[in-house]
Amino acid sequence: MLICKEIPDVASDYISREGSKRTRLMVAIHVAQCSNCRNYIRGLKISGNLAAESLRGPVPTALLQNLGLDIPDRGGSFKEPNE
Ligand SMILES: [Zn+2]
Repeated sequence: MLICKEIPDVASDYISREGSKRTRLMVAIHVAQCSNCRNYIRGLKISGNLAAESLRGPVPTALLQNLGLDIPDRGGSFKEPNE
């Protein structure tokens, strides 16, 4: 089990969904039981929201074209720009 002082180390993996499943599960279990860490994670999510939302979820096609990126697959993954 995680303890509170370990949460900051793994919180970004948890929020970005880039950590291992096991790590994220352990964080989820901890924050379900610990209101301090739940508030901490919530604060991180709010502060990270603007940056995260620009990278995740549906991106307007016009924005992608402005950036010179290919339109992503329906799965949401970006293609490498062609040479
Ligand atoms: Zn805690």
